[in-house]
Amino acid sequence: MKLYPALDVRSTADLVLALVDDFSPSAVETGADAMRLFFPAADARDAACAELRAHGYTTVPLEVSDEDWARRSQQDLAPIEIGRITIFPTPDSRIPTNPGSQVAPNPTSRIPNLDKYFLTILPSMGFGTGHHATTRLCLEALQEIDVTGAFFLDVGTGSGVLAIAADLLGAAAALGLDCDEDAIQSARQNLALNPSATHTSFDTRDVTAAPLPDADILAANLTGALLVRAAPALLAATRPGGTIILSGILAEEGDAVRHAFSGADVVEQRQDAEWLCLRLTQR
Ligand code: SAH
Repeated sequence: MKLYPALDVRSTADLVLALVDDFSPSAVETGADAMRLFFPAADARDAACAELRAHGYTTVPLEVSDEDWARRSQQDLAPIEIGRITIFPTPDSRIPTNPGSQVAPNPTSRIPNLDKYFLTILPSMGFGTGHHATTRLCLEALQEIDVTGAFFLDVGTGSGVLAIAADLLGAAAALGLDCDEDAIQSARQNLALNPSATHTSFDTRDVTAAPLPDADILAANLTGALLVRAAPALLAATRPGGTIILSGILAEEGDAVRHAFSGADVVEQRQDAEWLCLRLTQR
């Protein structure tokens, strides 16, 4: 079994990475209050260990086995459940593929469960796998409104997750836009893995450059600063009485974003760690 030289450091400070840079760490895993650094060889790890200790950091050298890598990568592959939506990170034979029907994931069950929706989103493909709080907050907000028959616009679609979810929830059409051509490619590949989503399309577009089509429901999981800049365009694209779901907002950016969107009414605000999600109704 192969062993990887690693070093646990009781800190998440950027300075740690600066101090070990000379010893060419090959990977970093950051936890809540510690990080694990991996090195190509034990002597580089030991030199980095000495350097960090000289600067007062608490460090523990260790050898991480292949088995541990496998265990952790499998953990990352666990499906994520957000309300009635479950996101699978691999194409899963238990996911129904016939359009319009959602069945319980138990292969022996023949009882349809109309309340559950299954998505496949490959973890490596674009931002938006359900692992990030902002994606989950948007998916929660989406399940609080009636999507049936709506035209859904997903600005900054990344992996396409919100557009595909809106389609499965009953949108008449879902359009995902992203300025990044690679993201649009990923979104299209993810769409192909979700054959029940038959009303979704993707297009390359920069929200700050091109006018947006009119939407009944608009989601934009971007950044606080970009939302402030794009607010006029996003407001203009949402029909009267329509819903706007915003995320990617840090708690300290909340006031600025609410101010920029004061043309609409905030109906709900959710928070997960430092991330905010606003649901607004257009007047
Ligand atoms: N909607 C997904 C992904 C959000 S990540 C989710 O909720 O998880 C934000 C995405 O916005 C990225 O894919 C990024 O490429 C895109 N983006 C950033 N700036 C943009 C811009 N000016 N116009 C369009 N898309 C943009």
